[in-house]
Amino acid sequence: MDVIRLAIVGYGKIARDQHHPAIDANDSYRLSAVASRNAEVANTANFESLDALLKEGPTIDAVSLCTPASVRTAQARLAMAHGKHVMLEKPPGATLAEIETLREDAHRCGVTLFASWHSRHAYCVAPARRWLATRKIRRVDIEWKEDVRVWHPGQAWIWEPGGMGVFDPGINALSIVTAILPRPFHLTDAELQMPGNCQTPIAASLDFVDGVNMPIHAEFDFRQTGTPPIWEIHVDTDEGRLTLSEGGSRLSIDGEEVDAGPDVEYPGLYERFASLIQKGESDVDVAPFRHVADALMLGQRRTVEDFIE
Ligand code: NAP
Repeated sequence: MDVIRLAIVGYGKIARDQHHPAIDANDSYRLSAVASRNAEVANTANFESLDALLKEGPTIDAVSLCTPASVRTAQARLAMAHGKHVMLEKPPGATLAEIETLREDAHRCGVTLFASWHSRHAYCVAPARRWLATRKIRRVDIEWKEDVRVWHPGQAWIWEPGGMGVFDPGINALSIVTAILPRPFHLTDAELQMPGNCQTPIAASLDFVDGVNMPIHAEFDFRQTGTPPIWEIHVDTDEGRLTLSEGGSRLSIDGEEVDAGPDVEYPGLYERFASLIQKGESDVDVAPFRHVADALMLGQRRTVEDFIE
């Protein structure tokens, strides 16, 4: 395959801000179509749905699904049944089990399925993993706090079942820690703060341990206002404290910056997708999502004041 003829499905905030520019900047792709109920994108073919695109649109090789998780699985199954490679935005689904169905579909249809975790491609995540590999880790503290009104304006789906509330960004932190820590870990305690008028949490407090009882604590909060978001992970080790900040794009040891780089998350995702398609492979890791499912199963709910946009 020379150039991958790609369609974006669901042209909302992340498609506009990240996917479209990353596709335009990568010679391996051509944006052949967009399927979105309300958006019109210049210089490409537009359709109201994936179904209409597959029936009436130009030939495509792959789709990038940028819709909310609650509708993405049906779209992924439809695309794969038509022989298209599929990239899923995070989280990969609304339930854990449906991802197994998707995995089997990809195998049966002979296409690539890529469950993407954009934060894992942040500039300093790989250096952090390498640094931690040779240290004794004593504890991990995660702070993931942002203003939902700024980062998810008007996104009613985030408060509905399957929308995940504060876990929608929080899962990015979990995607990083599951990539940089040397051992698996599991949830031991969780408290979820639920606005009276919402069905998903606005904040969460989580405790985990790994197989050698190393503690991990996470605070996720959507009510951060007035300051930039806090997307930080601190790892205390026998040789100092590693801090990943700004979502993984900066790295410091004992407060001294050792690395920082440009925003390479979405360009990295599209490079990975092209390479998987070329090799005829899939990449589907549910580890971050499993922790969210556990928190929603185990977490104690505490009702807090209603959320007003
Ligand atoms: P968004 O702004 O609400 O965009 C999603 C788009 O999907 C909507 O604009 C809508 O486009 C379409 N859509 C929504 N509900 C649909 C439905 N029921 N059926 C068919 N299409 C539907 O959301 P987003 O922020 O881009 O997030 C989308 C995904 O990207 C989420 O999984 C999120 O976790 C992930 N993500 C978001 C961010 C971020 O900063 N916002 C960052 C990284 C990843 P039409 O109305 O035109 O159909």
